[in-house]
Amino acid sequence: MTSKVSDCIFCNISPDQYVTENDLAFAIRDGFPVTKGHTLIIPKRHLADYFDLTAEERIAIAALAHECRSDLMKSDPAIDGFNIGANAGASAGQTVFHVHVHLIPRRTGDTAEPRGGVRGVIPGKQNY
Ligand code: AMP
Ligand code: ZN
Repeated sequence: MTSKVSDCIFCNISPDQYVTENDLAFAIRDGFPVTKGHTLIIPKRHLADYFDLTAEERIAIAALAHECRSDLMKSDPAIDGFNIGANAGASAGQTVFHVHVHLIPRRTGDTAEPRGGVRGVIPGKQNY
């Protein structure tokens, strides 16, 4: 793991906030959740762009996403879907420049018109 960046929020997360971890990544609950259980999967190495992750880091992140999905579904039977994704670059909406993958639990009826999901990154283009 490369050194932590002192002014990076995600480099300074205390391990006692981890929901789970493996050798290369950890998971925390999002501080401003879109839905209850919104989780961030974060590589332990500081880097900004999802597309600069190594294959091993992508595998580690995917493994935690699957683990968190399973645990969330066990903890809340109302969860019946997920949105998963990363904002890569400021133009794509990224605000914390340490890679993280959003895992957002969804429950039927949590929004009136879910059709299109992540297409909603451009307002007005979600429902096609
Ligand atoms: P993005 O806009 O994709 O860079 O997402 C950054 C995410 O980090 C947002 O969903 C925020 O709610 C979340 N966030 C920001 N600060 C914190 C924090 N201190 N602890 C946990 N989550 C945070
Ligand atoms: Zn960092």
